[in-house]
Amino acid sequence: MSAETNCIFCKIVAGQIPAKKAYEDEELLAFHDIHPWAPVHVLVIPRQHIATLTEVGTEHEALLGRMLGLAPRLMKELGVTNGFRTVINTGRDGGQEVYHLHMHVMGGPRPWLKG
Ligand code: 5GP
Ligand code: ZN
Repeated sequence: MSAETNCIFCKIVAGQIPAKKAYEDEELLAFHDIHPWAPVHVLVIPRQHIATLTEVGTEHEALLGRMLGLAPRLMKELGVTNGFRTVINTGRDGGQEVYHLHMHVMGGPRPWLKG
């Protein structure tokens, strides 16, 4: 399990900075976004540091599948009943700000702040 020294999400994984957790297991962590765009806005991340979706290989396919599969379960648990969005921003032109792979999962009644 690698941890990048200056990665804010690795610090959340390590418990060095606080986050409002929504789910965790041995591979994944989900926590509420600090600046939510929607009434419910969580980020699903692998515990392992993978910078972007560009870095994933075939060995990560099961992990990616688990990230996506978690989304509907999480939304249900968090009371989202009318649909949700899943977004992965990749690289500069993809609008990625934090370089630790994460999937945004957003739901709740509209209007939303963004998205
Ligand atoms: P990106 O633009 O990289 O796809 O999204 C990064 C997201 O991480 C943003 O929505 C931002 O609000 C969120 N974020 C950045 N720093 C923190 C933090 O320290 N804690 C939490 N909970 N969310 C963060
Ligand atoms: Zn990281």
